[in-house]
Amino acid sequence: MADSNQGASPIANLETQKHLLQSDVLYQYILETSVYPREPECLKEIRELTANHPRARIAIPSHEGQFLMLILKLTNAKKTIEIGVFTGYSLLCTALALPPDGKVIGIDINRESYDLGRPIIEKAGIAHKIDFREGPALPILDELIQNEEMLESFDFAFVDADKVNGLNYYERLLRLVKIGGLICIDNTLWSGTVAEPPNATMDEHTRNNREYIIELNEALAADKRIEINQLPIGDGLTLCRRIS
Ligand code: SAH
Repeated sequence: MADSNQGASPIANLETQKHLLQSDVLYQYILETSVYPREPECLKEIRELTANHPRARIAIPSHEGQFLMLILKLTNAKKTIEIGVFTGYSLLCTALALPPDGKVIGIDINRESYDLGRPIIEKAGIAHKIDFREGPALPILDELIQNEEMLESFDFAFVDADKVNGLNYYERLLRLVKIGGLICIDNTLWSGTVAEPPNATMDEHTRNNREYIIELNEALAADKRIEINQLPIGDGLTLCRRIS
C-alpha cells in the first residue's frame, strides 16, 4: 500500500489508508454474510443462469444489486430507467424495489440476453412494472426527450451499457430525471485501470473504454448541476444527484 502512495500528499496518504477492501476474502465475507442470505430467490435464479453465459462478467454483482435496491427504496423511486439490461439482473433488482405502481423502462440493443432472464422475471410476478425497449439507447432516449411529459419525470436512472456513449447518456438523462433525482453510472473505475499510468499494459478494448470513462469521470466531477459520489462498489458506481 505504502509504495503505491509514494509522492502523494500526507493527507492523501492518510485517506488511502481508510478504505477497507483489501482482499477477495473480505469481499467473499460480505457476500456470504449480508448479501447471499438476503438475496430473493428470483435474483439468485437470474444470477445462476447468467453465470453460464459466456459474457457473465458484464452483469452487476449481487452486492451492487442489493445497494441499488436499497437506494431505490430510500429515495421512494417510482419512475426509473435503465440503459443496459443484459439478462436482467439489475432490471429485476429495480422492479423488485419499486412500489406496486412503479415503472422501469429497460433499454438494450440486444433482446436475446433479456429473453434468457425474462421467464424468471415473469415468474416473479413483477413483469408489469417493466417496459423493455429493444434498440440502441441514444435514439430511444432522444425519442423520450421529444415527449414533454417525459422531461424531468424520472426519479432514478441506471447506466450500464456501451462506454463510448457514457457522456451522451448522462446529458440526456439530466433532461429526463427530476431535480433531486439520481443518475447512477456503472463501471466508473473500470477494473482500477482509470488510475493506472497511460503506458500500463492492457488490451485495446480496456484501453479505449478507459479513455471514455476517464473523460466521463472528469466531466462529472466538474459538473455543477449535480452532487456526486464515487462508490468503490462492484466495478465502481458513480451516484449523481441532480440539483439544477
Ligand atoms: N445491467 C446489466 C448488465 C448490462 S451489460 C446486468 O446487471 O446484468 C451491458 C449491456 O449494454 C449489454 O446487454 C449490451 O447489449 C448493452 N448495450 C451495448 N451497447 C448498447 C447501446 N448502444 N444501446 C443499448 N444497449 C447497449
